Amino acid sequence: MRSSGRNTPCPSCGRTKDGDCRFNEEVILCHAGESCGPDQALRIGEVVNIEGHSWALVKTGAGHSGSAHVFKPHQPKRKKAPRATRTGPQQEQQAKAEVASIAIERFFDEFDLAWNVMDFHSLSPKELTEGIVTIETAHQTGQELSGLIQSIWRENHDLRILHRDRFNACIRNLGYQVEDLRHFRNHYLGEII
Ligand SMILES: [Zn+2]
Repeated sequence: MRSSGRNTPCPSCGRTKDGDCRFNEEVILCHAGESCGPDQALRIGEVVNIEGHSWALVKTGAGHSGSAHVFKPHQPKRKKAPRATRTGPQQEQQAKAEVASIAIERFFDEFDLAWNVMDFHSLSPKELTEGIVTIETAHQTGQELSGLIQSIWRENHDLRILHRDRFNACIRNLGYQVEDLRHFRNHYLGEII
């Protein structure tokens, strides 16, 4: 660490009269004195140009005298480099199949939760509210997926063989469940929906 002096002016404030500022390549402790010192209007996090480089003010009131501003080289957030991997049609197909598979599995999980909601009459108001949300969530997911499912089946034979029957059964059963729910809410809760 160098100190400010006649031949080594502080890079921040230019102090030469004494050794109160100290600095190296990694850090500058610029002493806020009466005649020299850092710009007091600077706020922590602000970046200044010092000798052609960007330095960020990271701390104030530092150093042994408790009155130095601390600057560190500013590191701009690095932009993410674009991935260099080549994506051929095969990888793309693979990636799409994975996304589809995850979406289907998630729907099955939501369906299981919905299917486990007990008979509406037996639920407390709180359970009923939760049950309604659970069923509507699964129903919503099923509806969204239904719009895509034909092209998923067409493009992914494995997924089709694995999931199609169960998917259709889930959609059918959810339809009944949502119908039951509407009926229950109309007749027993007096809602108009
Ligand atoms: Zn200085």
